Amino acid sequence: QAKLSGRNQYHLFDLQKDEEVRTRHNQRARIREALLKDEFELYFQPKVDMRHGRITGMEALIRWNHPQRGIVGPMEFLPLVENTNIIIDIGNWVIHQTLQQMSNWVANGYNWIVSVNIAARHFQHADFLENLRSYLAQFPDVPPEYLEIEILESAALQDVQQVREVMSACQQLGVRFALDDFGTGYSSLSYLKRLPANILKIDQSFVRDMLEDSDDLALISAIVGLANAFKREVIAEGVETIEHGVALMRLGCNFAQGYGVSRPMPASRVEKWAESYVQPEQWLQQA
Ligand code: C2E
Ligand code: MG
Ligand code: MG
Ligand code: MG
Repeated sequence: QAKLSGRNQYHLFDLQKDEEVRTRHNQRARIREALLKDEFELYFQPKVDMRHGRITGMEALIRWNHPQRGIVGPMEFLPLVENTNIIIDIGNWVIHQTLQQMSNWVANGYNWIVSVNIAARHFQHADFLENLRSYLAQFPDVPPEYLEIEILESAALQDVQQVREVMSACQQLGVRFALDDFGTGYSSLSYLKRLPANILKIDQSFVRDMLEDSDDLALISAIVGLANAFKREVIAEGVETIEHGVALMRLGCNFAQGYGVSRPMPASRVEKWAESYVQPEQWLQQA
């Protein structure tokens, strides 16, 4: 009796697993289809220098305009494909689309550094450098120095030697690099010496609690010190309030990105936003 129910249970479990695999397969197929059907869209979130309110750049963040579900955020679909080649197709679409947008902005006199998020699998792909080179060649009016690639600190740590090589080769083209979600990757101080990233992006989890949690404040202070010591730039993400910005400036971090500046917005709204942006008085006073 016990044996029988055991076998039945195993059987049931098997079916469930099968169902799960099929669902994931369908979801992935749907994501691939979304790319072909042009259902993805890039939103852009500004970055500013709090000392004077200059807009220094934008980050491209992908959205899925799903015909039934509305706007779907990247955390709801990218994890399903990050270990497949779909993430590479999506990443290439993001790079191309971003350069296209930058070309418009450059023509209108906006000299912004625009960053794209690139997955580890894509970045580590043998064709990454060549593809990047050919995309840049398609937009000769966009200075490569205006393009920035964000890779997760945790991803860069997977294979520091390889990441270092690709990073340096891309930098030869003029492209900049940022280490995203910095501080969450259990990094040792010494590996930063080997990674020529131009900028560290302080993870928003530290920024969120910095006004209440002195440990987070200390961590941010340490990251700013690290950036200074290694002559890298540093920016805080997730700057939701004016007070967060003031506290960051006191620690020597002058670049900010977050809802306190602007939420990500469709490309069509960016220029109008930039024309009407007013820097908080407290930030100017803190400078
Ligand atoms: P990320 O690159 O660290 O981007 C920051 C995320 O925090 C974005 O979420 C942004 O909308 C959100 N954010 C910005 N300011 C604030 C704030 O003040 N408060 C809070 N609570 N959140 C804020 P989003 O757009 O949902 O993207 C999530 C993650 O998905 C990104 O994290 C990035 O890792 C990934 N991602 C987004 N677009 C792409 C893409 O085109 N390709 C790849 N491979 N990954 C992407
Ligand atoms: Mg990012
Ligand atoms: Mg981040
Ligand atoms: Mg993140």
